[in-house]
Amino acid sequence: MPRVFNFSAGPATLPVEVLEKAQKDLVDYQGVGVSVMEMSHRSPEYMSIFNGAIEKLKSLMSVPDNYKILFLHGGASSQFGMVPLNLFSEKRKADYINTGAWSKKAIAEAKRYGTVNVVASSADKTFNYIPAISSDMFDPEADYVHFTTNNTIYGTTFPEIPDVGSVPLVADMSSNILAQEYDISKFGMIYAGAQKNIGPAGVAIVIIREDLVGNALDICPIMFNYKTHVDNGSMFNTPPTYAVYMAGLVFEWVLERGGVAVMQKINEQKAGWLYDFLDNSSLFSGTAEKGSRSTMNVPFVSTSEELDAKFIKEASVAGLKTLKGHRSVGGMRASIYNAMPVEGVKALVDFMKDFELKNK
Ligand SMILES: *Cc1c(COP(=O)(O)O)cnc(C)c1O
Repeated sequence: MPRVFNFSAGPATLPVEVLEKAQKDLVDYQGVGVSVMEMSHRSPEYMSIFNGAIEKLKSLMSVPDNYKILFLHGGASSQFGMVPLNLFSEKRKADYINTGAWSKKAIAEAKRYGTVNVVASSADKTFNYIPAISSDMFDPEADYVHFTTNNTIYGTTFPEIPDVGSVPLVADMSSNILAQEYDISKFGMIYAGAQKNIGPAGVAIVIIREDLVGNALDICPIMFNYKTHVDNGSMFNTPPTYAVYMAGLVFEWVLERGGVAVMQKINEQKAGWLYDFLDNSSLFSGTAEKGSRSTMNVPFVSTSEELDAKFIKEASVAGLKTLKGHRSVGGMRASIYNAMPVEGVKALVDFMKDFELKNK
């Protein structure tokens, strides 16, 4: 049974080389005689896998030495609560930029613990653009500023990192971590669920500046306190061992291909083919505004809902799977993360060209 091209937004396609490596080592990890799934998280073999994954991520993202890298449970969604619980001072106020469903969830969670000031929003146009941001929008007294770098559902990405002065900047990078280069020193903290661009579901990545650790609110549960995990090297309890192992294999795969800068180039090329086609098509059009477009998630529509449904069905038969848009916006969405091969995007564009000719 051949592999299809899987355009799922997440859990998303993984590099076939990574899956094959994991398969080879599944039952007996490199002569140890057990699977990685069966190892004690404190065994030397597993510690080497775990620390190796941290080192590779540190190198891939050029994480400065004054930042800690954590592998945690609970997905990106737990971070919506952990961020305010850990970063609120006694002032308990933060600025948020609202660019879609994930931002809204982060805002709702922070509101449970303090005052949220939404400084900018693109809700007026179903989040199909990134609002203009200027440094004077932000409260210099805020405990932090939160934004979502890439909006998975609407296919928008911040063209640049907001300038927030000396206030710590917190980014939900779930759907474009390792897809483009970021200067980590501009952020107080970054977090991401792994299942879009890193690995299987089950692990969330947190990269946090040291001075932001250790000031959690008293009500913060021990498992939600970054200090707990920093002090215990993400091993306060059993970490998601297999998911971290898989993430480590993906980090290695990205390193072997030349790192994040190379991925970024390939991603721009892949997305470029798709957007070029959409911009010149008489049947299909992209829904995100130019200037805000994502290289990771490309939402588009045809001329009717009936034709959208027909397209999704026929594409699936042709081995182009999971192209249905998010249930909240409809239409189509092609998620083309790092692991989506160039051939997958070419096959999609060819299929769309053909579909357009047949359905004019
Ligand atoms: C998928 C996603 C989330 C939610 O991730 P979970 O790991 O399922 O909690 C949050 N933010 C963004 C930007 C996402 O794409």
